[in-house]
Amino acid sequence: MAYDWFNRTGPGESEAGAPPAPAADAPDPNAEALEWARQAYARLKAQQEAQQLAEQVVEQGPQMGSPPTPLQDSVQPVHNSAGASAPSSAALAPAPEPAAAAPSLLEQAAAQRAERQQAITASPPADTPPADTETDTAEPSLGDFDTVFTWSAEVLAAQGKRADQVSLEEIDWLGRLRGGLEKTRQGFVTQLLDKLGDDPLTPEVLDDLETTLLRADVGVKATDQVLDALRQRLNLEVVDPSEGLRFLKEQLRAILDKPIKASPAALLAPQRQQLNVWLLVGVNGVGKTTTLGKLANLAVRSGYSCLIAAADTFRAAAVQQVQAWGERSNVPVVANPSANADPAAVVYDAIGAAQAKGTELVLVDTAGRLQTKHNLMEELAKVRRIIDKLAPEAVVESLLVLDASQGQNGLRQAMAFAKAAGLTGVVVTKLDGSGRGGVALAVASEAGLPIRFIGAGEGIRDLRPFNSFEFVEALLAR
Ligand code: GDP
Repeated sequence: MAYDWFNRTGPGESEAGAPPAPAADAPDPNAEALEWARQAYARLKAQQEAQQLAEQVVEQGPQMGSPPTPLQDSVQPVHNSAGASAPSSAALAPAPEPAAAAPSLLEQAAAQRAERQQAITASPPADTPPADTETDTAEPSLGDFDTVFTWSAEVLAAQGKRADQVSLEEIDWLGRLRGGLEKTRQGFVTQLLDKLGDDPLTPEVLDDLETTLLRADVGVKATDQVLDALRQRLNLEVVDPSEGLRFLKEQLRAILDKPIKASPAALLAPQRQQLNVWLLVGVNGVGKTTTLGKLANLAVRSGYSCLIAAADTFRAAAVQQVQAWGERSNVPVVANPSANADPAAVVYDAIGAAQAKGTELVLVDTAGRLQTKHNLMEELAKVRRIIDKLAPEAVVESLLVLDASQGQNGLRQAMAFAKAAGLTGVVVTKLDGSGRGGVALAVASEAGLPIRFIGAGEGIRDLRPFNSFEFVEALLAR
């Protein structure tokens, strides 16, 4: 079974439905954490080398008369300054079979991988190219053993992952998330960490923190909550900077987690073997279509059957754009190309097709004219009625897509949509292009909506389920 990106579980792991809780004995940034990171790195490196070798075998084909290269010879255990070495290569990949007419298991696996890769990376038609199509779909590759790797490894270790559970995908994503929050961090944390210095926290530092939080668009409510908690703590005892930072992170996580805890599930994942309908709503330009394309890709990679309903029939290019995203992940798209087709009719057809094929996830792109237009909300309500009538058994989610760079304006949109569209969650996009990543906290505290996914880039893999621990660590990374 494929790695389930929605539940963040690999084959054999239980679908706990919740991000792993930070381990009580999480290694702090010391030798233990570094050693853990080294082991994880060595293991990933050995895996990558084994895979590259398998691909070479397939490319070159079995050499007649020459003996096959034994895998063990080619995969060198990775040694590093601490002396950590990769697990034996035999544990990572089966030994190659002697050259024969029938392809070996390795060759078959590599061929299947290449086929899958090709299917996932099928390039879109030339007229609607999402950015970076050539490079952004390539499988992640292991970079250097640098600070971003060790930071990512620490974040995974602190959540209770073992070194042998770390995947390249997870490391790759954490690096992207950290990079994506760079702008917010520059304006926010760098100042804050400078102010914290080496001395115990003072009321003046807290005043500065207040300004910093408001500037990062954290919003008045969440800022007040964090500051009240910190001031109370300061009244009781002397708080040194590292404890101040730890306590601040805890407060920020609590704000983000509150609506998640109040919702039915910690992670939003489609229910397997059931119809799930996810409506994506939001004003034009926030990244709704891109998010839908990325979600379709996550679904395919996680082994769910998926279908897209192109129900934004008001914008001429929207249907084509959705079709291009569908092609990239080999996901069928139900559309009506005629101008001003009825969105509810498209949804009607899509639900019918999904029911006939036993599809698990239907992603619905909806129109996104400004929320002040009364008929947009009417339209959304009509689409919702069709779903409820046709598929009362379906698990329906209404996800608001919000552009982080719009800051407080995005928050106002969330409030307006929340009233009219029965929202169940939020996807925050464009965290990479904005210094206003703090708006995630404002949405959680003021709109009371759980953040379900975050987007930090235009690439197909730049979207992941939201995890407050990782978000706060990336926001406050040193
Ligand atoms: P829609 O009108 O809401 O459907 O928005 P689109 O999906 O067409 O996206 C509008 C623009 O935002 C496009 O240029 C996307 O490539 C870009 N975009 C979407 N998500 C992200 C993101 O997470 N980061 C960045 N930098 N750009 C994004």
